[in-house]
Amino acid sequence: MAKAPVEKNQYIDVTFEDLTHEGDGVAKVDGYPLFIPYGLPGEKAKVKVVKTRKNFGFGKLIELYEESEHRTTPPCDIFFQCGGCQLQHMTYERQLEMKQKQVKDVMRKIAHLPDVPVHPTIGMENPWDYRNKVSIPVGKRDGKVITGFYQKRSHNIIDMDSCPVQHPQNDKLIQEMANLFEELHIEPYDENTHRGVIRHVIVRTGQHTNEMMVILVTNTKELPKKDALIEKILAIDPDVKSIIHNVNTKKTNVIMGPESNTIWGSDTITDRIDDLEFQIGAHSFYQINPLQTEKLYAKTLEYAQLSGNETVIDAYCGIGTISLFLAQHAKKVYGVEIVRQAIDNAKDNAKHNRLTNTEFYVGQAEKVMPWWHAQGLRPDVIVVDPPRKGCDEELLDAMVGMEPDRIVYVSCNPSTLARDLKILDEAGYETKQIQPVDMFPQSSHIESVTEIVKKV
Ligand code: SAH
Repeated sequence: MAKAPVEKNQYIDVTFEDLTHEGDGVAKVDGYPLFIPYGLPGEKAKVKVVKTRKNFGFGKLIELYEESEHRTTPPCDIFFQCGGCQLQHMTYERQLEMKQKQVKDVMRKIAHLPDVPVHPTIGMENPWDYRNKVSIPVGKRDGKVITGFYQKRSHNIIDMDSCPVQHPQNDKLIQEMANLFEELHIEPYDENTHRGVIRHVIVRTGQHTNEMMVILVTNTKELPKKDALIEKILAIDPDVKSIIHNVNTKKTNVIMGPESNTIWGSDTITDRIDDLEFQIGAHSFYQINPLQTEKLYAKTLEYAQLSGNETVIDAYCGIGTISLFLAQHAKKVYGVEIVRQAIDNAKDNAKHNRLTNTEFYVGQAEKVMPWWHAQGLRPDVIVVDPPRKGCDEELLDAMVGMEPDRIVYVSCNPSTLARDLKILDEAGYETKQIQPVDMFPQSSHIESVTEIVKKV
């Protein structure tokens, strides 16, 4: 396209056709796509063009002429400012349908596998109160300490009373923390001047145990008023079992620094998934929606089709949750994961749950898998659960080289999943079916499990 058919600040009437992966509405002007937050497919609206690039532009919703039947009133007061959720204005039923459609779309457009069955998204009965972990920046407004989420596409903190997708226990604690810092004169960190003390508060709650971990991230090596802070945090909620001080002195968007000290209680909190108990450290990944995790892992197990005799690899294993799930039905499970503390947790978790048929390794999965391949390890089943960027080619090559009968791919990003499924298909592995599981209701994130088998 030579030139955008619209100009900045122009007002135009559009009809929304689709949603982006970020949950924004997509409308087209002479084939030129405009991305407009809060527009829903089928809706007609007046929009203002706010930015144009060569092949696409951005707009702002000004007036809705025709509302979608799938539009609903967001229950959260700050939904239209906050960057946390993207889809509260869409009925939950429709959110689930859109997520299924987005997986189908990438299977057609990216994987070139249009015929793979993509099942209806498994949703939640109550798609609220589910998040077991919250990371909240601390800031100041009008001389007062505030805690809240960042505004969409910015680092302005929105003062927040409560968050309807959070575990209510997390919500309450975060709310009290702003008062605590105020009372103890602990200065919030200022990103612009790189001054101040407290940067973030992270709270994690065990869904089944209610055990809580509170992590205080500071810009300083020392945590001021440590004893008073501990005493007051424990007074807010007796379920707090672990208080961690994390130091992050860098100018960075990464929330936690590498150094953590337990200043009160245990290094970990415990949670349960089905019959298994897991200890979770401050630096370890743990699924944020435990109820849906049970459904996700049940599908993973189903697609793994274990009879008890298999050797299994669980790549990107975190604290060994999937590994231990599968170990109950397999001969041997090998797990690999990059975060050392997660592997320490995984080993403890295996012992704690009396599962002796597991081995866990710290390392980059894309390096350890080729090494295992070279050592002659030939698993029957491989499970991968990579971060958003998907699997490295080295890992995919090693996986194919080990010739497992089946691969189960747990993904939090349909686009990279589709890219990897195409590579696997060309290398002799057929994608059988995909099951989206809604781990992040009200947000645009999509989780799925895929069954892949060796072609005969
Ligand atoms: N399967 C686990 C964790 C999935 S999240 C669960 O269900 O809880 C993805 C995990 O991959 C995280 O624990 C992250 O630390 C880890 N990771 C990220 N990059 C990695 C890499 N290159 N090699 C191995 N692990 C990696």
